[in-house]
Amino acid sequence: MAANNNWSPDDAAELYRLDAWSDGFFVVNELGHVAVKPFENDALTIDITDVVAEARRRDIKFPLLLRFQDVLRARVRRLNEAFAEAIDYTKYKNVYRGVYPIKVNQLHEVVEEVLDAGAPYGLGLECGSKAELIASLPHLVSDETLLICNGVKDRTMLSLIIAAQKLGKNVVPVMEKFGEFEQLMALAAESDGKTQFGVRIRLRTGGAGKWADSGGYRSKFGISLPELIEVVERLEQENASDAFILLHFHLGSQISDIQQLKQAAKEMAQIYAELINRGMPIRYMDVGGGLGVNYSGGSDGGINYSLQEYANAVVSAIMEVCDARKVPHPTLVSESGRALTAHHSVLIVEALGAYQKDRVDDDYIAPAGAHRMSRTLSEILQSLRAASDGEMEVSELLEAYHDIVEIHREASTLFGMGYLSLEENALIERLYWSNCSAVLRHLRAADPDPVPAEMRELEDKLVDQYLCDFSVFQSMLDHWAIDQAFPIMPLDRLDTEPTRRALLVDLTCDSDGKVSQYVSSNPDKQFLELHPIQPGEPYFLGFFLMGAYQDIMGDAHNLFGRVAEMHIYGDAEEEGNFWVEKVIPGTEVQEILAQVQYFPNDLQRRMQNLIKEKIESGAIRPKRGMEILDQYMACFKDQTYIDPRPRQ
Ligand SMILES: *Cc1c(COP(=O)(O)O)cnc(C)c1O
Repeated sequence: MAANNNWSPDDAAELYRLDAWSDGFFVVNELGHVAVKPFENDALTIDITDVVAEARRRDIKFPLLLRFQDVLRARVRRLNEAFAEAIDYTKYKNVYRGVYPIKVNQLHEVVEEVLDAGAPYGLGLECGSKAELIASLPHLVSDETLLICNGVKDRTMLSLIIAAQKLGKNVVPVMEKFGEFEQLMALAAESDGKTQFGVRIRLRTGGAGKWADSGGYRSKFGISLPELIEVVERLEQENASDAFILLHFHLGSQISDIQQLKQAAKEMAQIYAELINRGMPIRYMDVGGGLGVNYSGGSDGGINYSLQEYANAVVSAIMEVCDARKVPHPTLVSESGRALTAHHSVLIVEALGAYQKDRVDDDYIAPAGAHRMSRTLSEILQSLRAASDGEMEVSELLEAYHDIVEIHREASTLFGMGYLSLEENALIERLYWSNCSAVLRHLRAADPDPVPAEMRELEDKLVDQYLCDFSVFQSMLDHWAIDQAFPIMPLDRLDTEPTRRALLVDLTCDSDGKVSQYVSSNPDKQFLELHPIQPGEPYFLGFFLMGAYQDIMGDAHNLFGRVAEMHIYGDAEEEGNFWVEKVIPGTEVQEILAQVQYFPNDLQRRMQNLIKEKIESGAIRPKRGMEILDQYMACFKDQTYIDPRPRQ
């Protein structure tokens, strides 16, 4: 493809669908670079290529995760203000108190930033395991701050929760199973009998989308209605109704359809009204997580609502039932995690090289002595190259393509039987790919409708592979596991048209280690438009919306460890409009090895023995042997990823 001279940065923004997923936080600037717009009511932007330059100056290695802490804060504000607006508009007679589920991103700095930004709104936390409970508890600075404890809880956890309640902290364990409730009551009885808890209800309304089984009949979690009645009866018998203060449901992450949420909220509000009438002093209605993020701008697995619409739906559905049943409006709680953290982190990945199918030069003509098949391919190529765009009929092009494919197949057979030399076969291979791209060029010019199957096959075959310095398993687990598409685009050169079609592949030795889904207006698109890599000029890609689940869940496939991180704040007084608060280096080789029980001392001893044997047998000089040992030992402090520009 030849570059379009009228290309502008706006065209790039459109191609990569920035408007659909950036939520106003990312723009393409007039230099053709991606910039962050961290503050909502301020035009200040940070050019990401400046941040990359700063990281290179400091010799921080890539891949590099950038956290824009102001974006995280802005998301916290938006969620809380959306609920405030919905409450104001409907005249709902209570408040919203969100909790941040730390499993979405447990990094301490993320949790602290969320809590700090959420303090004016009384934002609390949610935990789902023992380690998360232990991490969250000391962050309950105010006694009002909610800590909701979901997940299966053992005796240790339940008694720690009761102890925290004794301290006056607002900790609410949510009963997932009837047995858990019995255990909590028994533990409370060992002291003064006082506690507080919530119940996760197994609703009829099931979830939708990729996590549908988090709600509904088949859910692994929750208390059924008959069990709920038992809970109520026990509380009445033991005169302990005061303890029951919260109702909870969770439909699953990334709710795709807002109607489902409304229906679930109404179902729970009916249960709430019944329980209020029965004398249970329930104060909180917790609608769980699931507030979606528009990763792909609606083209695939998207969501059909905005943040404001979500808040309106929750408030109005619950209010409608409460008013009809004449019960007080409860405090509303949501456990939105993805929607708070997704936008703030961007993974910066360097494209190390592009692999294009072998081609022959434009003016190449097979010599008279070349193999018959090479000469035929060369003739077809000449006529394809001589024709101008639009000159050849689609039927002619398809016929040429069929001939090329047949010759290619025949060459493979002959080579397999030993009738074709390696050199001859290699030339045929190069001519074959040159012909394929010439045919495709003409087909694109002809723009046939319907698109012939051969054309789709060619589009697929001729995509370049761009080798990228990252691991899908460490940094984009959901892409591998559930085909989630994340927005990816080059960070610069966006003032010129990207003329290559690329498939991104990672460093792992796993055929799944690639990006096979791209954000596009065409859901079937299997490639990303990129620029040709220029020698000596690094080409960096941004992977966006990585802050929810991805950057924390990584798996050490092939022993690629955590990537380096840089935490950034915007500030108009600073050069480049930003300052770096913190750098966390990526995992060193020795750390990741220790996780699988290899330790430097032992490896050194083994390597030393191997070398000693060679010295004793006279295969190498002792000095050289020791140099090799030093070289080996120096690698333990390296990062686990590729370093295209190692220090000498
Ligand atoms: C995972 C989870 C959440 C967070 O969901 P998001 O979709 O990230 O908002 C909230 N509550 C519970 C019970 C969860 O399991």
